[in-house]
Amino acid sequence: LKIGTLNCARVAGEMEIEKGIAAAGKPIVDRHGIDDGLIQKIVYDALVWSSLHGLLVGDRNDQRSGKLPGVGMVHAPIALLPTSFPESYWKQACELAPIFNELIDRVSLDGKFLQDSLARTKKVDAFTSRLLDIHSKILEMNKKEEIRLGLHRSDYMLDEKTKLLLQIEFNTISSSFAGLGCLVTDLHRTLLNDYGEDLGLDSKRIPGNTATGQFAEALAKAWTEYNNPRAVAMIVVQTEERNMYDQHWLCTLGITYNVRTIRKTLAEIDSEGQLLPDGTFLVGGQAVAVVYFRAGYAPIDYPSESEWRARLLMEQSSAIKCPSISYHLAGTKKIQQELAKPNVLERFLESKEDTAKLRKCFAGLWSLVDSDITKKAIEKPELFVMKPQREGGGNNIYGDDVKETLLRLQKEGSEEDAAYILMQRIFPAVSPTFLIRDGICRKDHAISELGVYSAYLRKMKSLVTSFEMDFTSLKLYPFTLNISHFGCTGESPVCTCRNKESVIMNDQCGYLMRTKVSSSNEGGVAAGFAVLDSIYLT
Ligand code: ADP
Ligand code: MG
Ligand code: MG
Repeated sequence: LKIGTLNCARVAGEMEIEKGIAAAGKPIVDRHGIDDGLIQKIVYDALVWSSLHGLLVGDRNDQRSGKLPGVGMVHAPIALLPTSFPESYWKQACELAPIFNELIDRVSLDGKFLQDSLARTKKVDAFTSRLLDIHSKILEMNKKEEIRLGLHRSDYMLDEKTKLLLQIEFNTISSSFAGLGCLVTDLHRTLLNDYGEDLGLDSKRIPGNTATGQFAEALAKAWTEYNNPRAVAMIVVQTEERNMYDQHWLCTLGITYNVRTIRKTLAEIDSEGQLLPDGTFLVGGQAVAVVYFRAGYAPIDYPSESEWRARLLMEQSSAIKCPSISYHLAGTKKIQQELAKPNVLERFLESKEDTAKLRKCFAGLWSLVDSDITKKAIEKPELFVMKPQREGGGNNIYGDDVKETLLRLQKEGSEEDAAYILMQRIFPAVSPTFLIRDGICRKDHAISELGVYSAYLRKMKSLVTSFEMDFTSLKLYPFTLNISHFGCTGESPVCTCRNKESVIMNDQCGYLMRTKVSSSNEGGVAAGFAVLDSIYLT
């Protein structure tokens, strides 16, 4: 850790920061009032705490840091102190979590909706096209996912002008930082316990964060439902991963729940994987109960046909995929935009109250076929974000590039417009923040994005759809049959079981605040734009 280079750099434009505070409403603390000596002490403690508690990422300066744990580690980029966030919006975001879970599950079951909504995109976006091909094959097989597991993160920004909590996106694949996010919460609580009086802050105003434990619990419950005590949980990983500690935190699974985990790349899965006729998926001879993807969301994860073969093979198996191909597609930006169209939510959810709650957090979302909107976006590109069907940060188009891209697409008259969606740009309040990266703390104007994790686990009890029971013959068996288990009333000796489904888990699971310098468009922590943060309820 480069604490030797510790330097609380004062940025230029302090007056502007003052204005930022005024614009953002009441600051939780006059952070200008904190003297440098105190800040340096807190920064030092934060760096020690991070090192001792595994709030770590691989150091990009060490070549081996993405491959080998325990070498080339550096503290994760963090905010020194939690960012204030109004409690009412926090509650709103938490309340939305189970509703979005249910929505995504239902959307995932509507294969035609997914295929139709992405049909134009398929023609121009090779990556989405490959995902849709796998989805088509699964539909042709008429294969149903009997156990469905989602580990999601719904991201929001608080729009300053409209005072609305607006959704940025819903992540269904590889939702990262549950592990490190929890640690940042613990760090901030610890710092406020130690320095709260000096800062005028109360550690109890930081909501507890149990995302890691709840995600691990969801994975373990899915593993239990699969019902093969010898099977493992497999984490699909990239060949190099500097964010491996965040992933390893979830694998504490092994210790807590006695579930063995293995880490494999898509290429390894292709060479070691085997699909048995009964659907069992073996990797290196071991049965896999749960496949948890922390790779496979970007074209770069599929450098050859081998990786695509692996993805298809897993999808064809009975292993529980987190996410399944349907969940993955349901989380694409194009589907987000389709769901925001009038009367679409109503296709999937019965409750008017729920649809109203979801709709309230939808920002403006448009397809590029809407010529009025593209015209507006060309005139005022700063009010829009243009998004391709990609994950992982760094893919969106902003500002003048929106205008240029739209004009180019118009001129070419190609169908490439279907690769993108347009979204209303959200402008959160700017506030002064201490950001620490590589042991260096600097003060800057920053904006924040709140991510709320959620887990969903559902089991379809469709194996028995109808059967007849002869109660007289049951007496011969030396065990008691629990009739209610099959969803029968037990009143009649002949009973028919319905195609029953049961939700095992549908919970909000902690959160992640990401804070970035306000001049930066993108918000990726790993990509070097943002820092991990927690919230201070106001
Ligand atoms: P990804 O799946 O790559 O994370 P996002 O939709 O989350 O894609 O966009 C990446 C980042 O771009 C976000 O974290 C946020 O900082 C910024 N961003 C995305 N959409 C908007 C928007 N509508 N308004 C303002 N910033 C946005
Ligand atoms: Mg995403
Ligand atoms: Mg995102």
